[in-house]
Amino acid sequence: MSPVSQPTPGSAHGAHGSVLVVNSGSSSIKYQLVNPVGGEAIASGIVERIGEDEGSVRHTYGGNTTTRTDPVPDHGAGLRAVLALFEEVGPDLAQAHVVAVGHRVVHGGAVFGAPVVVDDEIVAQIDALSPLAPLHNPPNLTGIQVARELLPDVPHVVVFDTAFFRTLPEAAATYAIDREVAREHGVRRYGFHGTSHQYVSGKVARVLGRRLEDINQIVLHLGNGASASAVRGGVAVETSMGMTPLEGLVMGTRSGDIDPAVLIHLQRNAGLSVDDVDDLLNRRSGLKGLAGENDFRELHTLVDSGDEDASLALDVYLHRLRKYVGAYYAVLGRVDVITFTAGVGENDPVVRARALEGLEPLGIAVDPERNAGRKKEPTIISPDWTSTLVMVVPTNEELAIARQAIATIEAAGYEGTSDESDPAPAATGHA
Ligand code: AMP
Repeated sequence: MSPVSQPTPGSAHGAHGSVLVVNSGSSSIKYQLVNPVGGEAIASGIVERIGEDEGSVRHTYGGNTTTRTDPVPDHGAGLRAVLALFEEVGPDLAQAHVVAVGHRVVHGGAVFGAPVVVDDEIVAQIDALSPLAPLHNPPNLTGIQVARELLPDVPHVVVFDTAFFRTLPEAAATYAIDREVAREHGVRRYGFHGTSHQYVSGKVARVLGRRLEDINQIVLHLGNGASASAVRGGVAVETSMGMTPLEGLVMGTRSGDIDPAVLIHLQRNAGLSVDDVDDLLNRRSGLKGLAGENDFRELHTLVDSGDEDASLALDVYLHRLRKYVGAYYAVLGRVDVITFTAGVGENDPVVRARALEGLEPLGIAVDPERNAGRKKEPTIISPDWTSTLVMVVPTNEELAIARQAIATIEAAGYEGTSDESDPAPAATGHA
């Protein structure tokens, strides 16, 4: 018997349910059981080191974390171990009334501008997009396949990291290279972290009590990966990541923008292979490459101890960030709100203050007292006099995926949950 209750197409709305959100990587599966109405995580966990000699599953429920360290040969075994832990330590998935499984998929290409209920054809389409995200889409798909086998009675919904950016104007999405080569190989700017940018820009409007359609926003998602977006009236018009999540801001281990001729140079003159360059730009660059450290807490310790490499790394990071803010100011023409989010954006007041330093003539400033400390709730950190509000809004990609999954199954005629006290942002800009 499947541990989840069976939703029925066309049945009445209003039942309270939960959504199991799954993020399947090459050697890990992260999951969270989410109450899409209240927004809280009922349980969460991670399967790690799939395929290695020693694997682990960490499951948190009711304030307690249970850890199992057994080999996890493949994703199927990983998900079975997760379901066993739900049965053993709770919560009971049948009682939690799981109405959908929401899967994060990194690349939706030019095909997907909104979440969809998975069927075999959707699986084939995601598979066909794998050349654009060879490290991400195949493991995402593996997770979807095993979850569909193990939880066959609930609808599975895929939510794409690129979908929010399907609205980028052609002028922003197009690389200036031979158009035939670009067309044949899908070379254009897709953008990533879309779920977060959409969630945060929607939340900003709700928190301010303003209509999303009326405000122009810059969202700065600064985590280990980092991206900026310009959102006009709820519609994404620019973003810093491109065909892959490598373009744009300086990140924990990724270079962000770089002259493409550097790659040619390194392959021609330094004997680096294609894989070497891939490894260099994705894993040995960014703050890690410049300072040997990609965690901001450690980076600040190094800077404070007088480490010059760390100091330069921070300067390079902040310079790039400020440059993007300026560029997006010009793209939007008027900026009502700039919002920081994700691990660094929510927790690092130094980065927030320094990134926007010197922008007072543009009506942008950060108030030191309001900016102090880590932010667990949406907070305005600009002084009263500015024309642009600066905010910190914690992101919640799992909740965003859960709510999009609910909206998608309801639109498809399945039972869902319509009693939303804090409704999901209007679905502007990703249809
Ligand atoms: P994310 O990818 O959103 O989970 O963000 C992870 C990053 O957030 C880490 O690599 C750190 O650089 C940063 N971070 C987390 N906690 C803090 C903190 N208390 N202060 C500064 N940075 C933090």
